[in-house]
Amino acid sequence: MSDPMERLAAIFERLPGIGPRQAQRFVHFFLRSSGAIRRELIQAMQQLGSGVHQCPECFRYHAGEAATCSICKNPRRDEHLLAIVAGDQDLAALESSGTYRGRYFILGGTISLASESTDGLRIKELLASLPGRTEAGLQEIILAFPANPEGDATAERLREICKEAVGTNCKISSLGRGLSTGSELEYADPDTIKSALDSRR
Ligand SMILES: [Zn+2]
Repeated sequence: MSDPMERLAAIFERLPGIGPRQAQRFVHFFLRSSGAIRRELIQAMQQLGSGVHQCPECFRYHAGEAATCSICKNPRRDEHLLAIVAGDQDLAALESSGTYRGRYFILGGTISLASESTDGLRIKELLASLPGRTEAGLQEIILAFPANPEGDATAERLREICKEAVGTNCKISSLGRGLSTGSELEYADPDTIKSALDSRR
């Protein structure tokens, strides 16, 4: 593919939720915009590769100087609570609700209903972290997955897996439902997340 416009459009089309027409619109936006904006995009992309890394404890992407992220190394976060979420956006949604003060673990996705496979999910890493977290005082694991069939299947599987690992010493809860809309955690508003947290069981 030698046409630079086609090449860039093909990259944009690979982004989540972007179709061919939107990809074309982005290309034309950059054609019309100044060289400074294009350079800014190139620079930001390069820094994304060099300046962002994954926290070894919760696995979220962050740009902090230390390996461990600001949430995991914050001594004021509640060690008694661990929220397991599917992705970085869900963690961001819980954070923006301002009500959750515990720790996080990012699983890296949900179980696909087609294959029921847990491939690509950080189950091994989660299990490896639980003894240390229990020792540090973990009392409750909150399964904070989206309110859709994949999220429910993931919560169900994780409940079994965690139960086996932590026994009866630690409570395992799921976010409360009764929320007809906002099934995707990342798009839920802070009040919805707060009530889902308050009604967890
Ligand atoms: Zn972290």
